[in-house]
Amino acid sequence: MQVLSVASEIFPLVKTGGLADVAGALPGALQALGIEVHSLLPGYPAVLQALGRAAPVWSEPAYFGGPATILAAEAGPLRLFVLDAPHLFDRPGNPYAGPDGRDWADPQRFAALAYAGALLGRGAAAGFSPAIVHAHDWQSGLTPAYLALGGAPRPATVMTVHNLAFQGQVPASLLAELRLPAHAYTPDGLEYYGAIGMLKAGLRYADRLTTVSPTYAAEICTKQGGMSLDGLLRARADRLTGILNGIDTTVWNPQTDRALPAPFSAADPGPRRASKAAVQRRFGLRQGADALLIGVVSRLSHQKGLDILLACLPELRAHGASLAVLGSGEAGLQDGLARAAAAAPGEVGFLAGYDEDLAHLMQAGCDAILVPSRFEPCGLTQLCALRYGALPVVSRVGGLADTVIDANAAALSAGVATGLQFEPASEAGLVRALGRLAALWSDRQAWAATQANGMRADVGWREPARRYAAMYRDLMPL
Ligand code: ADP
Repeated sequence: MQVLSVASEIFPLVKTGGLADVAGALPGALQALGIEVHSLLPGYPAVLQALGRAAPVWSEPAYFGGPATILAAEAGPLRLFVLDAPHLFDRPGNPYAGPDGRDWADPQRFAALAYAGALLGRGAAAGFSPAIVHAHDWQSGLTPAYLALGGAPRPATVMTVHNLAFQGQVPASLLAELRLPAHAYTPDGLEYYGAIGMLKAGLRYADRLTTVSPTYAAEICTKQGGMSLDGLLRARADRLTGILNGIDTTVWNPQTDRALPAPFSAADPGPRRASKAAVQRRFGLRQGADALLIGVVSRLSHQKGLDILLACLPELRAHGASLAVLGSGEAGLQDGLARAAAAAPGEVGFLAGYDEDLAHLMQAGCDAILVPSRFEPCGLTQLCALRYGALPVVSRVGGLADTVIDANAAALSAGVATGLQFEPASEAGLVRALGRLAALWSDRQAWAATQANGMRADVGWREPARRYAAMYRDLMPL
């Protein structure tokens, strides 16, 4: 079976968040199940530079405002189609914003990506005729719409929501320019609050909907968690499933990870000590194995709840713990964290930026990794933490609720605890969690057992891939 995956980022070529990790790892896991995935992504400068041999398979001289070519290429194990359209993608900065942090305003960029997904779905590349086209997030939300509105025969479509907060709204005046039929601009079609809704279109027209955890699948069907799309999601709830993400256990392997000073394993976590010392040095924290070291690796946004953490620093320090934060994002949070670090040298450390190697080192060296998100579709940091022996301390939302087993008395006595959960995601909730964490830290036997359970948890892609494969097969024939 051939599948086309359409996403705006893919690890290791271009990444701003978890979407890239999923788009990069799922194809390999599905390959092992006999499913051949090709991935379509935009030709950002970093992507074009990373390609080895690339052959044009389709081109159009006036495609969404300029010349465009679809290249077939390979990058490591990934089979790629790259939409090379310099007028849309040859820009500095990240996929969504320029170096000044301002988002690119032209909706043509991702409409063009989505349309290319539909073209490939209909056989634009010789020798490739996918049975399924799998769209990820708002950037490819129009792909299922283009295919459904274009009529049969067509491949089956799947729309996966990695984060409902990003929805892609486009002025309705652009309908024709974006190659969308005017008759579909209705509340039961493309229309969303007086505009074209890109994610809404995907949720409306795809044959199946998935999101990245069972709890998030339930949350987005509620008024509170549905971000204005809950009505549509409830109406289509029989097509919606939650499938947890995995992490790439070859990239995240503490026995072979070159970012660590010393390898370790679940059977012998002792060498984590060397990573802990290295983290303490990098963040200017006081040295020593006894003080509880809490880490955060995160985008800095309201979703991630780091303002809640800032409010709890007095309690954290009162427990004798120290804190290392690696993150980039909103200026206000960045300033707050920098000020907190300056006010508590040796106890609170903050490094602004995005650094894969340091993220690996922190997972290996911190005693606990904190994820105080207000909402979290799946979350990958806590999966990395489990694998690397850092106890995840998470708010009980979305995928965090589904992947961490709280160390309550029952779970501890049954020998299944893997971390701590707290609710609500508020100052009071986190203060209580920090108290529980400090108590667990002082019970080294319970701590070690919890750590060992976490390190043995199955956080890879095999099981999630099996679920995606079952869904694809279920869609055949449409
Ligand atoms: P989201 O996609 O909402 O940002 P996820 O937890 O799903 O959150 O995925 C985030 C991924 O990006 C994880 O692999 C995490 O380790 C990584 N990450 C986030 N911020 C940083 C950073 N500043 N440096 C390195 N890695 C980061």
